[in-house]
Amino acid sequence: MLLFSDVAAVFEEIEKRSGRLEMTDVLAALLKRADAAEIGKLVYILQGIVAPPYEGIDLGVGERFAVAAIASASGYSAGEVEKNYKKSGDLGDTAQELLGKRKQTALMTQEMGVAYVYDAMLRIAKAGGTGSQDVKIKHLTELLNNASPLEARYIIRFVLGRLRLGVGDPTILDSLSVAKAGDRSMREPLERAYNVCSDMGYVARALYTEPETIKDFHVQPFKPLMPALAEREDSPKSIIKRLDRCGVEMKYDGFRLQCHKSGGHVELYSRKLERMTDMFPDIVAEAKKLKAKGIIFEGEALAYDRKNGRHFPFQQTMHRRRKHGIEEASKEFPLNLFVFDILYLDGTDMTGESYRARRAAVQRLFRGKVLQPSQMKLVSTAKELKGIFNDALAKGLEGIIAKDLDAPYTAGKRKFAWIKLKKSYGKAVDTIDGVVVGYYLGKGQRAEFEFGGLLVAVFNPDSGKLETVAKVASGFSEEEMVSLRETLERMKTPKPPPNLDYNIEVDYWVEPEYVVEVAFDDITESPNHTCAMREGKGLALRFPRLLRMREDKTVKEITTSDEVRRMFELQRAKS
Ligand code: ATP
Repeated sequence: MLLFSDVAAVFEEIEKRSGRLEMTDVLAALLKRADAAEIGKLVYILQGIVAPPYEGIDLGVGERFAVAAIASASGYSAGEVEKNYKKSGDLGDTAQELLGKRKQTALMTQEMGVAYVYDAMLRIAKAGGTGSQDVKIKHLTELLNNASPLEARYIIRFVLGRLRLGVGDPTILDSLSVAKAGDRSMREPLERAYNVCSDMGYVARALYTEPETIKDFHVQPFKPLMPALAEREDSPKSIIKRLDRCGVEMKYDGFRLQCHKSGGHVELYSRKLERMTDMFPDIVAEAKKLKAKGIIFEGEALAYDRKNGRHFPFQQTMHRRRKHGIEEASKEFPLNLFVFDILYLDGTDMTGESYRARRAAVQRLFRGKVLQPSQMKLVSTAKELKGIFNDALAKGLEGIIAKDLDAPYTAGKRKFAWIKLKKSYGKAVDTIDGVVVGYYLGKGQRAEFEFGGLLVAVFNPDSGKLETVAKVASGFSEEEMVSLRETLERMKTPKPPPNLDYNIEVDYWVEPEYVVEVAFDDITESPNHTCAMREGKGLALRFPRLLRMREDKTVKEITTSDEVRRMFELQRAKS
């Protein structure tokens, strides 16, 4: 049995290291000690989750409840716990300190295995309905009663969703490979397996029980795939240079849906891979009518304006992403899903097939209005491509996506198999999606809103670090400023996010969770920012302005430093 105390000791060790390679070795040694029944659970704990995102099982433990559990396990009053927390800035540290000075010792403590701790966390997460908060506190207190101070530190951080080990998915995948194969040779197949099912616990269990299945891992209904992503170019000419003859699709500005069907059962997933089935009964009903017994397809959903006979813009379409009033909203804003890919059909994994073949299936299977194929044309010259791009803009669309006819579907990867060409925002050529890591108080006119701007970071998947790229101080209305300030206040932390590389101070740091889309004029080199840093200079956005929130993206899906570097190089080539 792998003890949770051993896991906690490794977490402490990992916190002291910063290099990916070092972390991988330490982690691999730990993973090696887990058995087939433990490995999936251990991997979820490392990811800071109790289940893959599409199961929608959140821990739902707020600070208040953690304080109550620490108080009852340590014998200190809630007030004393809070006082300590104010000082430490981290409830995990507070739990560790106060449990180390426990006023009463539990009568009987038992050693806890990693599976035992995970099962308790899952019970905490699943407790629902009236009185559920008491049940959550009770389970958490029981865990803390059995925990050493060090274990308590990580239990508390975990239930609050702030484990923050700085261990990203790439490091876990590397470590799994090293644990089982002795080297990184399994990394690639493991990554593909993870990308086509988005459930790392499931992949890890398969690796420990039927390792031969990993190399030939198949897509399956009700395990959503990580979406394939588009690279960017800035002209029709450069697209044709890369792809030659290609398929050019309209780029619709709605929200991406992945639809899974097996027999009479249908599920829908968002771009973030959350289950959205209940929100879109109109799409579900149409999917049920499809002749295919088993199918997975993807498309962009747009709301249709019956009165004016055209599609609504993005903001109205977003009215459909709601938990209440679904029936009325589906009448007012009926959806059309522009199907652009098919990933599984009647027992066949289609992801290895060429786009040409997948597209033919899309055109054959989707002929309705609610589910219709995205518009596509084959082109061979930059001139033809430009014509379609202009058509798209004239129709009020965002641009086009050109697709490589021979390319397979690469789940979770940004590849030149898809290349987007977007309209510009004022002078801006493109936008980035970044996460807010801190904010500034207002000066002058803004003082009364106490809000002065956002520090925004992008992600470097190689190092697992967030790197700052812009201080965004414009693009908000007064109401937005007030509501942003309120939101960010709730996310305030005394210390910067542990995986943030920064050279610039803020008035307040926040949990890196709030994703925003930022437009800008161009990109410059600056010592103040750490994005894609080279020789002491990072990349920074010039004249950044807030475009909108990106509720459909998680921190894992924000723009990467490499992408910013690529935009910088495109801009340089142009000038
Ligand atoms: P990304 O998805 O590349 O991270 P993003 O979410 O900001 O970035 P864009 O860069 O604007 O989106 O473009 C890609 C997105 O465009 C896809 O994720 C998808 O939701 C949407 N899309 C619209 N039309 C199509 C289409 N015909 N084919 C593929 N994707 C499309």
